[in-house]
Amino acid sequence: MNNDFMKNEKTKQTKKKIVIIGAGIGGLSAGIYALNAGYDAVIYEKNPVAGGECMGWDRRGYHIDNCIHWLTGTDPKTGLWKVWKTLGAIDEHTKYHDEGKFYTSFLNGKHLSLWNDLEKTRQELIAFAPEDADAINTFIEHVEYAKSCVIPSEKPLDMMGIRDYIEMGKDMADMPKVIKTFGKINMEDFGNMFKSPLLKIMMSDYLCYNYTAYSFLVSYATMACGNGRIPEGGSLAMTNRIVQRFRDLGGQLYLNAPVERILIKNRTAVGIRLESGEEIYGDEVISAIDAYPLFHKLLDPEYMPKAFRKAYEDQKGYPTFSGFQAAFAIDDDFSQTGTVCFDCEPLKIGSNTVTRMSAKSYAYERSFAPEGRTVLQCNISQQDADYLFWKNMDEMTYRQTKEELTQEVLKRIVKQFPELEGKIELLDSWTPRTYERYCNAYHGAYMSFITTKDAKQLRIKGELKNLKHFYLAGQWIMCPGGLPIAAVSGKFAIQRILKREGRPFTDFSFEK
Ligand SMILES: Cc1cc2nc3c(=O)[nH]c(=O)nc-3n(C[C@H](O)[C@H](O)[C@H](O)COP(=O)(O)OP(=O)(O)OC[C@H]3O[C@@H](n4cnc5c(N)ncnc54)[C@H](O)[C@@H]3O)c2cc1C
Repeated sequence: MNNDFMKNEKTKQTKKKIVIIGAGIGGLSAGIYALNAGYDAVIYEKNPVAGGECMGWDRRGYHIDNCIHWLTGTDPKTGLWKVWKTLGAIDEHTKYHDEGKFYTSFLNGKHLSLWNDLEKTRQELIAFAPEDADAINTFIEHVEYAKSCVIPSEKPLDMMGIRDYIEMGKDMADMPKVIKTFGKINMEDFGNMFKSPLLKIMMSDYLCYNYTAYSFLVSYATMACGNGRIPEGGSLAMTNRIVQRFRDLGGQLYLNAPVERILIKNRTAVGIRLESGEEIYGDEVISAIDAYPLFHKLLDPEYMPKAFRKAYEDQKGYPTFSGFQAAFAIDDDFSQTGTVCFDCEPLKIGSNTVTRMSAKSYAYERSFAPEGRTVLQCNISQQDADYLFWKNMDEMTYRQTKEELTQEVLKRIVKQFPELEGKIELLDSWTPRTYERYCNAYHGAYMSFITTKDAKQLRIKGELKNLKHFYLAGQWIMCPGGLPIAAVSGKFAIQRILKREGRPFTDFSFEK
């Protein structure tokens, strides 16, 4: 017993300290994997709460859930599920909401849905637009193929060997067909494959026009195969479970602690300096914040990998998107709606005039609203040029514009759902500027760069050539970002440290 005690004491003394910047899902993941691998982990977060963009907040007795539309990795057969389980996000007992469909599109009083049941979708679409039967069959066939798409979660791609690639190729045997047919067309081209005006518009309703159609098929397939579900409680509840796991393992989370600078000695990261002036030293530093502020404030731009530099310089090939969003309290159950897209009177927001809108009912989660009521949210897509529209306003104009546009959105919702007249009230609205303020997000983007047909998908090695003991995590290391990339990025950062130390980084005894 004495020997064990001595051993434990020794391990404690020699434990390496990992300093992590940012308590979004990427930073929390790095923290949890660090602790599981036997390191000490401390996270410094600028906001008063952890979670970053995986967030929700309360307004006047309602809860606004602002992230998970689907969580990729809810199928226990996937490697990603193991990662989520290790983070404490979900487990075998998690209950999910099942809306049974991706979304519904309306046009001229008619509507169609993309059901999780692909056969049902095929039959309904063909019955509605027999003239599009060939395109519909091609679409459904390729969504079926896209079900094989997996996000690499065992180890970083650059640490994979030939055998790993062969295995991955076997798992994703059908994906080349999807990439070949839909990888080089964007959402607009994809919509144009259909003759029926409703089908045409429906297919380009959900993602921005410049996304590759391939991304859309993979999103739909993820939901259709049960690997993209919504855990009960929504985004904030999931974040809180992850924070709890980090704390239970002994991690220390410092909130209201914005980091100003990474401390460097002899081309080696040795710690961080907070905006308060306090300096914290550690053995390894992991940044899990947005890459743009990282390479423009916390580090000098000379450290930025070339691939990032090229992407920021090529806005056409690497656009980003955000949203002008509004949440409404509805004095109605409104439980049959799900996500709907519909025509609206033209509305200029930013540099763009929209003629379609979408609204999502959160009636599926009863705890988000008082009995008999629900929350309805609208998200109008905003890209880089729209960000500048919001960014360049003074505070007063910003508030006024937001208020006016929110009222315009409300009018259009009531036009689509006249039964809501007198039953709908604004809870909150927010813009790309909000994401910039809250998360230091580049152009207010809450995902990484859009995957376009004109540019190579960005993949960033999580280490820098000219800075030792420093690692990158967070969704920006791999397009298109999102929760799964954030989650695996934290694990990958720790695997890089383990590898450098000659410790087994594929021994998942530390993946609980
Ligand atoms: C409306 C909306 C819908 C979404 N829907 C989905 C979805 O359905 N599925 C999906 O997979 N993803 C979705 N996402 C995207 C998802 O939320 C993000 O991809 C993910 O949360 C990013 O995690 P991250 O850790 O990489 O970055 P972030 O969440 O941005 O975390 C970075 C953290 O670093 C902190 N930080 C920044 N600068 C500093 C500093 N200087 N010092 C200290 N801390 C700092 C920030 O405050 C933040 O907490 C959605 C996001 C939004 C907003």
